[in-house]
Amino acid sequence: MWTYQHSDFLVHQIPALENNYIYVVADKHSDNVLVIDPALAELVRDACKQLNITPSHILNTHHHWDHTDGNAQLVAWYGCEVVGNAADTKRIPHISKTIHAGESFDIGSLHIQSLDATGHTIGHIVYVIDDALFCGDTLFGAGCGRLFEGSFAQMWTTLQSLAALDEQTKIYCAHEYTLANLSFANSVDGNNPELQARIIKDTQTRNMKLPTIPSSIGLEKHTNPMLRALDDDFCSAYNPGKTPLEVFTDIRSKRNVW
Ligand SMILES: [Zn+2]
Repeated sequence: MWTYQHSDFLVHQIPALENNYIYVVADKHSDNVLVIDPALAELVRDACKQLNITPSHILNTHHHWDHTDGNAQLVAWYGCEVVGNAADTKRIPHISKTIHAGESFDIGSLHIQSLDATGHTIGHIVYVIDDALFCGDTLFGAGCGRLFEGSFAQMWTTLQSLAALDEQTKIYCAHEYTLANLSFANSVDGNNPELQARIIKDTQTRNMKLPTIPSSIGLEKHTNPMLRALDDDFCSAYNPGKTPLEVFTDIRSKRNVW
């Protein structure tokens, strides 16, 4: 488990399954403890025991089992409130507080902004708490989620809205896929010096068995091939005459068969 300081809360990062991350957000000013996408309840219980805190809420980004399988047990143990998209009420187990994409709400002293993040699934939302983004399977280190339900255009709209967040915003995504994504990135953006520097740095990080996550919006804008179409110079060098959406579509499609 790793812990990151934000001004009003701590983020605890728990590795789970093969490459998932579960996040536990502890409010510094109240007893509220938010568990983001609990793949497994036992890992959350053990981490919270160690930290001497008690989960009060679960925030789900989307319905996939590796984000929600811990819901039932955490509700049984702690009576957690389960927050998720009203549009996914039938698919998120034990959901008890529905919100609409784009809605903001408060838990204790934490102000939480949800954003629509359709793409990986229909109904995927992300949560922004101050300078922390919990984005599930939408934006990854140097990549983005597979399009299981949404269209390329929907995912591109989602990625643009995340890229518009402050560059300092930390990205807490749900999987450690960065090195594989960087290897692909090198095949489409190999002349990018910032990408080359990131490959060296993140490879060293993983060699030390440390997470490459959290990343930041600024780093992703400059090195993530799924966001590079935001840059007009990149687009014209990649394929002159294509729109940013067409460039994104081409790159996301290539990643599927990489
Ligand atoms: Zn998923």
